[in-house]
Amino acid sequence: MLTRKFKISNPTALLTEMPGLGMKAKSLSADIRRHFNCTLGRARNCRSVHYAYSALALTVRDRLMERWRNTEYAYDQADCRRTYYLSLEFLLGRALSNAMLNLGIDEPIHQALNELGLELEELADSELDAGLGNGGLGRLAACFIDSCATLQLPVMGYGIRYEYGMFRQLVVNGYQVEEPDHWLRNGHVWEQERPELTVRVKFGGRTELSNDASRPGQVVWLDTDDVLAVPFDLPVPGYRNGTVNTLRLWKSAATDEFKLGEFNAGDYAESVRAKNLAENISMVLYPNDASENGKELRLRQQYFLASASLQDVMRRWVADHGEDFSEFAEKSCFQLNDTHPTIAVAELMRLLIDEHGLAWNEAWAITHRTMAYTNHTLLPEALEKWPVRLFRQMLPRLLEIIFEINARFLGEVAARWPGDVDRLARMSLIEEGYEQQVRMAYLAIVGSFSVNGVAALHSDLLKNGMFRDFHELWPERFNNKTNGITPRRWLAACNPELAALITEAIGAQWTTELTRLADLRPFAEDAAFRERWMAIKRRNKEKLLDFKNRELGLHLVDPDQMFDVQVKRIHEYKRQLLNVLHVIHLFDRIKRGDLQDWTPRCVLFGGKAAPGYVMAKRIIKLINNVAGTIGSDPEARDRLSVVFLPNYRVTAMEVICPGTDLSEQISTAGKEASGTGNMKFMMNGALTIGTLDGANIEIREEVGAENFFLFGLTAEEVERRRGGYDPNAIIEANEDLKRVMNLLESGYFNRFEPGIFAPIVESIRSPHDPWMTAADFPGYVEAQRAAAGAFSDKERWARMSILNTAASGKFSTDRTIAEYNRDIWKLTPVPALPVK
Ligand code: PLP
Repeated sequence: MLTRKFKISNPTALLTEMPGLGMKAKSLSADIRRHFNCTLGRARNCRSVHYAYSALALTVRDRLMERWRNTEYAYDQADCRRTYYLSLEFLLGRALSNAMLNLGIDEPIHQALNELGLELEELADSELDAGLGNGGLGRLAACFIDSCATLQLPVMGYGIRYEYGMFRQLVVNGYQVEEPDHWLRNGHVWEQERPELTVRVKFGGRTELSNDASRPGQVVWLDTDDVLAVPFDLPVPGYRNGTVNTLRLWKSAATDEFKLGEFNAGDYAESVRAKNLAENISMVLYPNDASENGKELRLRQQYFLASASLQDVMRRWVADHGEDFSEFAEKSCFQLNDTHPTIAVAELMRLLIDEHGLAWNEAWAITHRTMAYTNHTLLPEALEKWPVRLFRQMLPRLLEIIFEINARFLGEVAARWPGDVDRLARMSLIEEGYEQQVRMAYLAIVGSFSVNGVAALHSDLLKNGMFRDFHELWPERFNNKTNGITPRRWLAACNPELAALITEAIGAQWTTELTRLADLRPFAEDAAFRERWMAIKRRNKEKLLDFKNRELGLHLVDPDQMFDVQVKRIHEYKRQLLNVLHVIHLFDRIKRGDLQDWTPRCVLFGGKAAPGYVMAKRIIKLINNVAGTIGSDPEARDRLSVVFLPNYRVTAMEVICPGTDLSEQISTAGKEASGTGNMKFMMNGALTIGTLDGANIEIREEVGAENFFLFGLTAEEVERRRGGYDPNAIIEANEDLKRVMNLLESGYFNRFEPGIFAPIVESIRSPHDPWMTAADFPGYVEAQRAAAGAFSDKERWARMSILNTAASGKFSTDRTIAEYNRDIWKLTPVPALPVK
């Protein structure tokens, strides 16, 4: 990678100053040259694209530094209330073009690079994605911190600096193969190590009562194996407002004092074991989305993040206020991104009581007024539980605290519902059974003043389903915050041509006030505007084809086809399988000559399966086999193409969503908490085919039923049909589905690997299929026909596309964050000091 050559039109340009540039561009090009020559020490014969990228990134970073310092200084001066966003995942993607856009220096940089004979796209392509997350939850965290900085809110993100991010996905013979993602391989110019802020995190050991007479009843946690947490800071620039917030990521490191005795005694292996154990904590992101990880190392990661971050906040507090915590809750709020960092509830209690000498009641009053919890899932298998046995061994002091929280909480429940023993068992933080487990979601609810879901339907289902008992006890804690996406990355940066056209039509204010997009509505009736809109869509489709061709080496697809796209994690509840069944149905129509009103389409899939999720991996294989069969069928391939794009990631989505016509959001109703991919497509002018699930419901409300292709059971209907579900009867009654099943079962798509799709067929035919794929097939086919019909009417489609973008204003994270702030965080915006 380091030796990759780049195209340079003027080989001496990086070493000598060029005349004829504007002031800004001049200073930028001087800095790029200085970093290339001095900071990076490269000579004129160096043609490595990596160094050219690094010189540019350092130049941009320089321009963030003063703003970054000024922002922190302004927050300090204001002594303001702050929020700390705790998340095990931040799916950041690339930093360069986002920083350029938010700083407002994209134009002069283009000029400077032009003079230097460099191509921005090529340099930008050399930045590796920071893939420190699985999917929606991690990307949401990244969009949130962008909006916080844009709204000038004093919010700091805390996460883990995984050495290896989300695995790289290859497809070999149709099967997913995982490769490690060593994203730090070439260094990471955006981060700043802050070794002076290193903290210690304790693990293992035992507890005993202190024999310090001045602290009766005090517990000490001793004989621990400590690990160091070293912070690395990333700048989070707001949109052209001088604010640069901080994302602090922790790297684990061994303490210096470890096992020297063993080392000297010649037991080298034992001495490095401890070091490895410590460093393993931040080694790798767990690649499971919407399912429990259940591994000891994962709990270590969770405690590592919670403890290091809380200690960091406490250190700043004590530096400013001494040991007086009376105003801590007024000045601090921790937002827990799912249950992953929930151990923070017990850790804050431990720090306040054991390290700062507060009494239980005082500490509890602070803790449950500072913690706020966001739930992200309705799937029971994703609800985290940790064995009590593991806690006892790894975090004995934390377990004691959880037991005490539970005892006091159950006392409250018993007082409210005397004699209701079942309720006590249901609500206990400890699940009894063969192995006792700590229910982390319940700990989060009990320890927080706010519990929110991430779309209206999801929040209702939490109140009436999974957390019903808790809602009965504390209705005031529950609220909804519908997710969003940042319009800077997901429209302004990824779709510059469309952004320019929108700005030309309605002015530039939409970038920070997205509801302004509604002003586009009248333009849907303007034929010339529609033509320009669709010309941009077509160019974006060509760019998507270029990207795909670069990644796949294929050149088969025509940009005038309908681009029908489903990219997201591969999971049964998201029902890529339903989409494949429809593709097989289209293929069957071609083969039987049912070509009336045919709309040529390219069905594009992308997404990673958790490495241990056998069924999801099988579905990837099915997609690839169906794609292969159709691609080699001369009758079919010009009418229908199917592509699986490997290694779906943020950078891929930045090319995919501007080039999409039809967005597939087809989860079984009641299973997708919100979805955010759905919003990215809508904002970029795609139409949605979808179920009444998650934020789809709100998307449809905003854009109007006539501009959305709806199908499928509702969440209530899904629940009602459980028990009486008979997919075989549905298959028998539906000729199309029967033919599709026949093709699948005949081995048509797996002639050389007989039987490999049997588990898929079985799951569709099972009366226990929780995803009810067969039930939604007929409605889905009908909605797809309607979408194809609409697409073939170019003027109508263009109108609907414009109206989708125009109606996407609600789905900005600026709106989401403003609501978090209004209802939960209650922060006052603090403008950064001006740059000199
Ligand atoms: N992965 C990436 C790279 C994304 O950008 C997104 C969201 O837009 C997701 C996953 C989540 O997608 P979805 O909401 O469709 O599950």
